[in-house]
Amino acid sequence: MDENRKVRVRFAPSPTGGLHLGGVRTALFNYLFAKRHGGDFILRIEDTDQTRYVPGAEAYIQDCLQWCGLIPDESPAHGGAYGPYRQSERKAMYRQYAEQLVADGYAYYAFDTSEELEAQRKQHPNFRYSHENRLELRNSLSLSEAETRALLDGGQSHVIRIKVPPGETISFEDMIRGRVTFDSSLMDDKVLLKADGMPTYHLAVVVDDHQMAISHVFRGEEWLPSAPIHILLWEYLGWRSQMPQWAHFPLILKPDGNGKLSKRDGDRLGFPVYAMNWQDPKTGDLTKGFREMGFLPEAFVNMLALLGWNDGTERELFSMDELVARFSIDRISKAGAKFDFEKAKWFNHEWIKQLPNQALMPQIMTELAGHGIDADEKYVDTILTLVKERLTFMADFWEQAAYFFKQPEAYDLAAIQPRWNDEKTVFFRDILTTLAAFEPWHRAELESCYKTAIQASGMKMGELMLPLRVMLVGGKFGPDVFDIAALLGKKETLERITKGLAAIVA
Ligand code: GLU
Repeated sequence: MDENRKVRVRFAPSPTGGLHLGGVRTALFNYLFAKRHGGDFILRIEDTDQTRYVPGAEAYIQDCLQWCGLIPDESPAHGGAYGPYRQSERKAMYRQYAEQLVADGYAYYAFDTSEELEAQRKQHPNFRYSHENRLELRNSLSLSEAETRALLDGGQSHVIRIKVPPGETISFEDMIRGRVTFDSSLMDDKVLLKADGMPTYHLAVVVDDHQMAISHVFRGEEWLPSAPIHILLWEYLGWRSQMPQWAHFPLILKPDGNGKLSKRDGDRLGFPVYAMNWQDPKTGDLTKGFREMGFLPEAFVNMLALLGWNDGTERELFSMDELVARFSIDRISKAGAKFDFEKAKWFNHEWIKQLPNQALMPQIMTELAGHGIDADEKYVDTILTLVKERLTFMADFWEQAAYFFKQPEAYDLAAIQPRWNDEKTVFFRDILTTLAAFEPWHRAELESCYKTAIQASGMKMGELMLPLRVMLVGGKFGPDVFDIAALLGKKETLERITKGLAAIVA
């Protein structure tokens, strides 16, 4: 790495829909690298393909970065010294570079209509516009200068294509893969500037990475085949010495390791693949996201970081700051990383346990409000401490703790009725009287009071603990039963024993 060069990396998504977790991981790795090296993390919206533009997708990307805590130093929303950060707003700038390439002999005008190209594709199933056939097609290389001029002056629709030379070896040093080599004879003459004056991805990405002084280009493996075109452009535009370093991240694979994880796999296997819910504005189709499924951003980010990276130890739990302190590109593996939803859930569970109650409270209060409950925060805080260990998702809180907020609507009678007898009925009638007079209503004192009563009855401990639990919570679950009784308070506990007993002996 050039020590003197300021680290500037970019996340450059196209606003075409929801953000796949692979996209968020690309953003994350870029962010971590930037922060690790005191550099800048830039969000650039690559919206030059008007046919793929989807309204709402850009705002979604920004929300997503915000949710994950990947706040750009420069972006369409934050501004910056290298703006604008939306390629559509930079449109006017690209043509001059394409024209410069034509003037320097590295690119050419192509006038072929889409019908002509379609006919070529029909005739030659493997049609590629390249050094092999460019002289047989309609472009400024096959036509005379005068013909070309006439077509341009007559306003003939045209594109500008790169003139890829045959027989060259194009190579670069990928920070993850090492030396990567391409044979230029196999490459096609990609379009650089479209008929509508918009640059293609290839031209825009190189011009912008240069204008924005990007030091490192980190992106998904699917962009590797584009790298040789970009390298030629860096060279042809006279910028080779300022070319960024590159790394292409491994794919995120399906759980069985067979191929890239797609949105369809998520639908098929029942887990999210997008970071947040995405509603397609055209079809109205809703694709579920990690956020809405109940993932904490800390867990989501931690899980993503470990998909293809580790710090060289067995450690798996890292906060964002810890990731920043440890991140390095050379610890990213070349091989694809299998996505494992059970593991993702494990991260969430661990993060729920790890975060202070205060950090989880707003979500819990919203969850409770959704069930029509307006509870006291201190009460909720104590309950959260009791049930935290049992939560995989925040939404599990209600399932695990609803009985703290409302009396059971049903009882697991099958768990206790078969072993019920009159002696137990008498025990519970007596305990109601005992507890009504009992003070102080604290956990330890309640336990010893209850256990003393069991001993006096001559029955076994186990026989009378489960019924109490079922009366208080409705079933065979929940934390320590005396913790529950202490929290519910005397009045509520007595009411529940009375109601539970009536249900059992009915
Ligand atoms: N616009 C490309 C994308 O949608 C960016 C690829 C790159 O980072 O060069 O991912």
